Amino acid sequence: RGTTTMVKAKAIRVHELGGPDVMRLEEVEVGEPKEGEIRIRTTAIGVNFIDVYFRKGVYTAPAMPFTPGMEAVGVVTAVGPGLTGRKVGDVVAYAGNPMGSYAQEQILPASVAVPVPPAVDHKEAASVMLKGMTAHVLLRRVFKVESGHIVLVHAAAGGVGSLLCQWASALGATVIGTVSNEEKAAEAAQDGCHHVILYTKEDVAARVKQITSGKGVNVVYDSVGKDTYKASLECLASRGFLVSFGQSSGKPDPVPMDDLASKSLFLTRPSLMHYTATRDELLESAGEVFANVANGVLRVRVNHTYPLSEAAQAHADLEGRKTSGSILLIPDY
Ligand code: NDP
Repeated sequence: RGTTTMVKAKAIRVHELGGPDVMRLEEVEVGEPKEGEIRIRTTAIGVNFIDVYFRKGVYTAPAMPFTPGMEAVGVVTAVGPGLTGRKVGDVVAYAGNPMGSYAQEQILPASVAVPVPPAVDHKEAASVMLKGMTAHVLLRRVFKVESGHIVLVHAAAGGVGSLLCQWASALGATVIGTVSNEEKAAEAAQDGCHHVILYTKEDVAARVKQITSGKGVNVVYDSVGKDTYKASLECLASRGFLVSFGQSSGKPDPVPMDDLASKSLFLTRPSLMHYTATRDELLESAGEVFANVANGVLRVRVNHTYPLSEAAQAHADLEGRKTSGSILLIPDY
């Protein structure tokens, strides 16, 4: 080696926390991958609600300036010294690169990259690494959904929500979804929701009681948080599970133990990263998701694509509840 190539690329950078407009497209130097790393030319970038939390400072952001984003797909352009099993031209996807995915070209640890099977295209892969693996972990590991279970999914037409509904339905569960408007209700129904509740208009707990003949649901997957967690607890059957995995409306208040004791409820607050911490877990999750995309169990809704330069608009739409399904940024070269 001896010399270092200075690869330059455009990337979104955040210099201060704040609204969508703090994200600016800038030219950055990417350089060469070091030991254990690869460099990829990004082809599709997944936008996730967690990117909003980091931009606003709800989650502690990396040192400034930082490039947001946790998920992308790309083609390997360079491999770090001594790394085996990877080569230039491989198509890989990842969720959870600590260095930020909103970039044309980027370096990442080879350990987080997963090969994308030919049956799954780049846009699909960038839509299911983070959201699809989350769905896998929530439905198969955090609470194992079986045929006959009744499942409640909040934000059922969202990125994770759409995949949760399709997968839970394919597992034989009765799926109840909540959404904010009629368009999203139609999508949720197409995605396998047997009952859809407009939580902006209807009383969720009362409707769930009616749908389940007073029994309640076995599990609630709640990513909305502050606005929904109370109704989520009310909707649960005896010994039911509240899986609180997000806070799109804000952090839920603390839950008193007595609220769990009244029905012997379980409450968990899982994070995908803790369930994909080992390479085996990561490959298992990604493998199940890609297999379900390839065999048609999961129909990926790529409803919104924006050029990388319009990341701010993508965030504004996501936070404004204007989106459904997956949101992608496509780097323009
Ligand atoms: P979504 O596509 O689900 O977007 C958020 C949706 O939440 C909106 O479309 C909206 O749907 C609903 N919502 C309800 N109230 C609000 C509000 N006040 N502001 C904004 N949206 C609101 O996003 P993602 O699929 O990217 O993520 C879904 C959730 O899952 C997030 O909370 C995220 O943090 C969480 N998550 C957690 C992970 C974990 O490891 N724990 C991993 C991945 C995601 P509607 O209009 O129908 O109300």
